[in-house]
Amino acid sequence: MQPPIGPYERRVATVEPWDPRALEVAAAVAELINERRPDLVVEHIGSTAVPGLPGKGIVDLAIATTPDDVPAVAAMLGDLGFGPQIGPDPWPPSRPMLVGSLVRAGTTFRIHCHVMPDREELNRDIAFRDALLADPSLVEGYAALKSGIVESGALEPHQYTYRKQAWISDVHRKLGVERRPVTPPATIGILGGGQLGRMIGLAAREMGYRVVVLDPDPDCPAADIADRLVVSPYDDVGGALRLATLCDIVTYELEHIATEVVDAVDALRPVRPGRLPLHVTQDRIAERRFLESAGVEVAPWREVRTTDDLREAADALGLPVRLKVATGGYDGRGQLRLERTGDLDGALRRLGRPEGEALLVESELAFQAELSVVIARSVVGGIATYPVACNRHDDGILVESMAPASLDPEIPERAAAIGERLAVMMGVTGTLTVELFLMPDQRLIANELAPRVHNSGHWTIEGAATSQFEQHVRAICGLDLGSSMALAPTAMVNLLGTGPARPARLEALGLARAMADPTVHLHLYDKRQVFERRKMGHVTAIGASTEEALARARAAVDLLRWTDDSSGEPRDGRA
Ligand code: ADP
Ligand code: MG
Repeated sequence: MQPPIGPYERRVATVEPWDPRALEVAAAVAELINERRPDLVVEHIGSTAVPGLPGKGIVDLAIATTPDDVPAVAAMLGDLGFGPQIGPDPWPPSRPMLVGSLVRAGTTFRIHCHVMPDREELNRDIAFRDALLADPSLVEGYAALKSGIVESGALEPHQYTYRKQAWISDVHRKLGVERRPVTPPATIGILGGGQLGRMIGLAAREMGYRVVVLDPDPDCPAADIADRLVVSPYDDVGGALRLATLCDIVTYELEHIATEVVDAVDALRPVRPGRLPLHVTQDRIAERRFLESAGVEVAPWREVRTTDDLREAADALGLPVRLKVATGGYDGRGQLRLERTGDLDGALRRLGRPEGEALLVESELAFQAELSVVIARSVVGGIATYPVACNRHDDGILVESMAPASLDPEIPERAAAIGERLAVMMGVTGTLTVELFLMPDQRLIANELAPRVHNSGHWTIEGAATSQFEQHVRAICGLDLGSSMALAPTAMVNLLGTGPARPARLEALGLARAMADPTVHLHLYDKRQVFERRKMGHVTAIGASTEEALARARAAVDLLRWTDDSSGEPRDGRA
């Protein structure tokens, strides 16, 4: 027998007038559900439940249940003909949304069935609906917001949802049913214990949170600032689940975390900035497609798998090109600059990736400057954007950042608009960094995205009202964002390793001289070993201008020297 519920189709979001038949559809589906499960309370929520409110016309139903009962309810909905949610950012299996349709008088009504084990979430949705039912001016405001979003251009359905969030959350707050934040002494889990994990953890601890870190290296930079360390590879589901059980919320400090790991953790604890941002940004090719779909300009590029593909691409793009691994590259590792036709032969082999793997090849751009912008987005869609940083790289590795970059104000505005658009499209909860090339004709071209704090945002620790690390913690914990305003012209210079691998120790007198400048701040990441070009720490300086700040930070870094001592014993500097 044909199930009563028909298939679901994803459509571009449009705003339609309210249709009274939606009430009949909701009642009919509730009846179907109650025939099978008389114990379940089914609530009609969302816009179609409010007479006169225009919307997408989707009938949203909420089914109150308990965590243990979720699989049985989902299975029952499956029997009725409901299917799994389609699209890039589905609800987790612990709180699924099943989708289907029902035809009424020749019109197909799409239905979202929200299976809700969380009483508070359900109460919030009901309170919002009831507030709309009781207050025509609220309905008017909501309707205006919706048509404004849709009129701003064709939108993906998820983008429509994210854009509404901030307004809805404001109403929740007024109704006193807002989402509860994760508050100290709750525990934050961090996937990755490098310097970024360390600095996120330090910010979290300052606020009174506890910190658990997962890293394969027991001596990782975050090891000594974490309350607990789970030693496990990034692609091990078991280790990640151990981390999840030890904390209330999970974040990550790197993109290179296996999809299975994030999906498994997300079923237990919220993972923020989110699964979608990770999926989109961990593969450079997927990232390029996403950027293009968002209308953000990128360098001309091709996907290549063979040397023949590469030759063809180089012909089309023109040399020089950059050949990049799709996954796992960082700090300029995993990419080659190909200048001459002769460089193309064997290039794939030199990258060291299995034959036939998809690689990204793109035109090398003669940019005027490299810029980056860090954006934070809160749980309820609030946005804080930092001043744009101007960055200098050496052989692919970031060496210096200055912020706020000295630019025609129109450029940071465009950079911020790009970042905010991308953060909304990915539903980022936390920080997102966009690396951009500023071209001589003033175009901004996106190079890379990172759904996390970023090396080019380290200046914010001393240079901004709220550091990117505190901002990230506030966002992932569901708190409002702090000001992202710059306090002073600031520069950051990375402290890179030099020489062969040996125990990491800075010469004491050099360090003392570097810090004789009172505008200078030293950050060391507690890496046990130093080696050539390893990111060991950074120096920040403030000044009357970013140029002055940069000169001060450079002067300090020039005074810092790694000892040649391989014994590991600290020198006392009195020699
Ligand atoms: P990573 O993940 O290592 O940061 P990126 O793609 O950001 O990889 O490349 C690192 C640096 O290499 C960039 O910041 C830039 O300086 C340089 N670079 C990368 N791609 C290009 C390009 N298409 N044209 C010019 N320079 C590039
Ligand atoms: Mg980069």
